[in-house]
Order: sequence, then C-alpha cells, then structure tokens
Amino acid sequence: MTTMSATEAAEAAPVAPPSTGAPAKGSALETAHAQLAAAVGILGYDDGLHTMLRMPRREMHVAVPLRRDNGTTEVLHGFRVQHNVSLGPGKGGLRYHPDVEIDEVRALAMWMTWKCGVVNLPYGGAKGGVAIDPRQYSKGELERVTRRYTSEIMPMIGPDNDIMAPDMGTDAQTMAWVMDTYSVAKGYTIPAVVTGKPLAVGGSLGRGTATSAGLVHVTAAALADAGVPLEGTTVAIQGFGKVGGHAAEIFAERGAKVVAVSDQYGGIRNDGGLDVKRLMEHVGQTGSVVGFDDADAISNTELLALDVDVLAPSAIEGVLDEHTSGTVRARWVVEGANGPTTAAGDTILAEKGVTVVPDVLANAGGVVVSYFEWVQANQTYWWTEQEIAEKLEDRMHRAYRDVADLARREHLSLRDAAITIGVQRVAEAHQIRGLYP
Ligand code: GLU
Repeated sequence: MTTMSATEAAEAAPVAPPSTGAPAKGSALETAHAQLAAAVGILGYDDGLHTMLRMPRREMHVAVPLRRDNGTTEVLHGFRVQHNVSLGPGKGGLRYHPDVEIDEVRALAMWMTWKCGVVNLPYGGAKGGVAIDPRQYSKGELERVTRRYTSEIMPMIGPDNDIMAPDMGTDAQTMAWVMDTYSVAKGYTIPAVVTGKPLAVGGSLGRGTATSAGLVHVTAAALADAGVPLEGTTVAIQGFGKVGGHAAEIFAERGAKVVAVSDQYGGIRNDGGLDVKRLMEHVGQTGSVVGFDDADAISNTELLALDVDVLAPSAIEGVLDEHTSGTVRARWVVEGANGPTTAAGDTILAEKGVTVVPDVLANAGGVVVSYFEWVQANQTYWWTEQEIAEKLEDRMHRAYRDVADLARREHLSLRDAAITIGVQRVAEAHQIRGLYP
C-alpha cells in the first residue's frame, strides 16, 4: 500500500475550494449568506445550526471536454451543488453562462432551498452550471456539452435525489438531452430525472410560462394588499427571456401597462404601453427588443430608474446594488431573476420605502410547476392545463399570504419573512430527522 504526502493528498482533493471561505464582496453568495444570517437572527438559531444551513451538503466540479465542430478540443468547467436535502431531493436549474463559477452556483442552490421551502415543496435546493456562452456554440456542440456534463455529474443526479430544470442559457431541449443521456445510461426511460422537458417526452403543460404566471400572481397579491388594482398599473421589466418575456405578455393580458422592457442588447420604452404581442413577433424575428418601431430606446440602467409602479428585474443577479438602488422610483420591485438585489441594494430600497417582493417567492412559479411535472411523471398521469393553472395560482397565493402575514406580524420585510419561512421549514425537518450518527 502506498501512502500519500500532504501535498499529494491536497492535489488529489476535489477541485472545488472549501465552502467555508468568505465569498467575494458584492457577490451572489455574499448576498445569500447575509439573507440567511438575517433569518437565523430572527429565528434565534445557534451557530452550529447556522453553519449547517449555510454549507452546501454536496458539490461536484467537473471538467467538460468538448469537441468543437472545427475539430479542436476545449475543456469547460461544470458544477453541480446540492445545498440542502433535508426536505427531499435536490431541485434546481442548470445554467449556461460565461460567468458561472462555484460560488455563484452555491448561492443559486441556497436560494432554491429557501424557495422550495417558501412554496412548501418536498424538495431541497440544488443548482448546476457550465461556464459557457451558449450563443457562441452550435446546437450540436451544445448537445455534446450537455451530454458530457450530465455523464460527469451522473453520480449526483436522479429522480429521487437531484432533479434538474432549465435556467439561464438552457431550455426544454437541453433537458431532453439530459433526460436521454441519463436514461440511456440506466437502460430505460426516466422522465422524472428532469423537469421543464418538452411535452413530447413527458413535460407538463404550463411549465414554459409558469415562472411568469407566478410572478404576476404575487404582484397582483402585493398590489391588492395596498389597495391597488393590477389593471392600469405601469410595469417595467428588465430581461425579455423565459421569465421577463412571458411576464410582459401576462401583465398585458391582465390589464397592466408594460411601459418598458430590456434585454442584454438594450431597452425600449413607450409610456402609452408597449404592444407586447407585436413586440414578441419583433423579438422572434430579430432576437432582441432593440429596434422595435413603436418605442424609444433606453439603456438597462435607465430602465431601473423609470417612474413606474412595478419594476421587475428578471435577468441577472446583482443589478440593484449600492449605486442603482438609489435611482429606483418604482413602488414595488418584484424579483423575476434570482438575486437581482444585493444586500446593500436591499437596505437602500427599504430606506426609500420600496416594497421588494423577493425572488424566492416572486419567481417560485417555475419550480412549483416543475414539482407538478415531476409528480405527473412519477404517476405517469398528466393533468390538464386548467388544473395546472389553478393549482399554481393557489400555491402562489398561499405562499404570498404566509409571507405577507409573517412580515406584518413581526414587522419584517417580505424578503426577511420569506427567507425565514424557508429556513424554518428546512431547520424543522432537519431537527425532527436528527443528526446522523
Ligand atoms: N431555474 C428555475 C429557478 O431558478 C427553476 C428551477 C426548477 O424548476 O427546478 O427557480
């Protein structure tokens, strides 16, 4: 038997750095840690429980070699993090974005844990990512990346232990490739290993628009609490992807006035209200909201500062920070994205009296219908669109009520109340299960 020196052992250790180091200033993980610390303070938990709730249970950092169409080979970095599995299998999206790194995935996985807790799903939180700009790769290359990534993280995933879904840069097709790769390895079709799949391979009706539908439900509920009807309310949305695009459509259908939207290329504004149907066609043809004829051009930063009732940041993390939050004139910020407000931004918005409907509540509709899809796949019995829409609305309203009631009772922000509910449900499960051994 050979023994390893300390240096050799360190070299053989997993590539991911330990999760006890302090996260970078202003990073998503720093924000997530600050939010957890606030909830732990409210709940009066001790340091041991706090540390247990902060540290991811399991993580993998994998190399994803890719043969490019031109014959060269590239090696990408891939990650999967299960933040907590006390309430059930890990659940969370797979992100393809050039900035993906381990601490971001840890933050996103932690938010999934509280999100599933807030909407009362029997799931823990997980997240995966590959550092890649999907727009620079062909469909064939993306398929190979997805299949190799899936194969590398195979020991972690499964319908009973960790279930993926789309996130930024991935879609239903990506999930079909994950499901196929996993199923081929096991020797039979296992639709419940992913959610957000195409309908043809066991996806759920309503999943594609679920995050946006949920966002509009909680926005309407938050407005109603202040005696304001959704109809006629002005809305600005940052991000016109899977969340922001459908949210614009649903807001417009429900009588709100969508006055500005943006994407990574820029933004547009029309104070009389954008014709969202026509805008959708424009985006379908050109790939961006930019250049839409019936609107004026604005920047992403200008959009955040518009004088509207509702601002829905639905793109990336950290856009409302110590600089931009001071410019916000909206009365409600409804977070379609995960982590769009930094801890410093949150403090500024609170001082200004802006009501922030937090991500773990506002964008939870996606994972709620993911749960419905998983239940349907496990039962091999599929529900109607109407059943799904009704069950989603009911869950979102109940979650909003739980959060808003706690906030009112304890004089908390909606964020502190939401994270507190999520954390408490997880901690309760953990305490009842007991610590092994
Ligand atoms: N990626 C989405 C989110 O951040 C959906 C996750 C899921 O459905 O598992 O909530």
